[in-house]
Order: sequence, then C-alpha cells, then structure tokens
Amino acid sequence: MRLVFFGAPGVGKGTQAKRLAAQERIPQVSTGEILRESVTQGTALGLQAKGFMESGKLVPDDVVIGLAREKLASRECSHGYILDGFPRTVAQAEALDRTFQEMGRPGLDHVVSFDVPSDQIIKRLSGRRSCPTCQTVYHVDHDQPKLEGRCDKCGGALVQRVDDKPETVESRLKVFDQQTSPLVEYYQKRGLLRRVDSTGDINEVYRRLLKVLGLAGV
Ligand code: AMP
Repeated sequence: MRLVFFGAPGVGKGTQAKRLAAQERIPQVSTGEILRESVTQGTALGLQAKGFMESGKLVPDDVVIGLAREKLASRECSHGYILDGFPRTVAQAEALDRTFQEMGRPGLDHVVSFDVPSDQIIKRLSGRRSCPTCQTVYHVDHDQPKLEGRCDKCGGALVQRVDDKPETVESRLKVFDQQTSPLVEYYQKRGLLRRVDSTGDINEVYRRLLKVLGLAGV
C-alpha cells in the first residue's frame, strides 16, 4: 500500500501513520522527523533546515525532494510506505510523480486528508509534547504518558517542539493554507483523495481511517 498522509500541522496524522505502519508492516516516512533528527545530530542537512523549521517555514523543495527520493529508492520502501508530511507543495507532488516514472515504480494508491477545524488545531498544537530521542508524541490533555514528562517508550524527557510555540504555530498554519492546501485539488483531480474526519479520540480516528482504506483492524 502506497499512501500519502496529508493535513494541517497538529491533525494527528503522524500518530495515525505510526499505528497503520505497524499494523501493515510498512515504513512511515516522515520528512519532519528525518529533518528534526538531522538538526539534533547537526548534520549538513540539519544545518540547512534548522532556520526554516524554527520559524515555521517550509524547507526548500529541492532539499526535501532529494530526501524523499532517497527514501523511496531504498529497499524498505519497495513494498509500500506511508509518506507523512510529504508532499507539501505542488512542486513536491509533481516531483513525486516524476520519481515514480523515472524509477518505474507504481504511483500512489490513496492520499488521505485528515480534517480538523482550525480552532481545534491550535489547541492540539499547544498541548503537544514529544520525545526528542524517539519522536513519540503525547498531548497534555488526551494522550498523557504514564509518568508525567517522561516518554513511555524510552524514558526520555518530553519537550514542546520549538515550532509548536504559539508564535510559530500561526506561521505554520499560514504556510499550510497558502502552499500545502492546493494539493487537495491536485489529488482530487487524480481521483486519489480520501477524507478522514480527524476530530475525536485517536481510536475513533483510526477506525475511520481503516474504513476509508478498506482495511480491517487487528
Ligand atoms: P512536521 O513534523 O511534518 O510538522 O514538519 C516539521 C517541519 O519540517 C515543517 O514545519 C517544515 O519546516 C519541515 N518540513 C517537513 N516536511 C516538509 C516538506 N515536505 N517540505 C518542506 N518542509 C518540510
């Protein structure tokens, strides 16, 4: 199954992607996670991306496209994948289509749009906490770790992402409206868009996701 998970920041697509990836045994390819890891490690890619990410802007297309192409060419992606947070611009979507042609690989099966009203998005982002070590995501209200401030999986100290601070959130939502939302039309025209109401709890959203994809739960 070759999927794109699409939606505004904070709609919970990363959480859903992790769960579906585990169920279907396919990799979750999150450009945001790869970039954050690169920033933490101080690699050349990280140094290039840091300023854009911290100010809530998109990292330039050529950088992200190169990253995604490299991942898609790898063996782990040969039997399917979930692209989480890529593409984010029409130029990236076009580059993705070209990549499939050049690699002689089949195109996408579905593009899932996770929909949440914008007032709820701001609330979700401000309460989001994540583990910088393993990137597991929590929420102060509805997805708390067992031990306050500590990651259930690796014990790391939870932090608020720099770009989840209120001043940056506004800029990320604007970027989504201006640069990413045109992808709805792009994929609608190609008959690939599926919509999932992403309000409510994580299990409820997951059930809706499985239904849209015609999959059974485990
Ligand atoms: P995310 O974890 O998906 O919310 O991504 C965090 C940040 O990484 C974004 O705000 C961008 O700065 C950068 N980023 C992630 N994916 C992309 C992409 N496809 N294109 C451009 N920038 C991206």
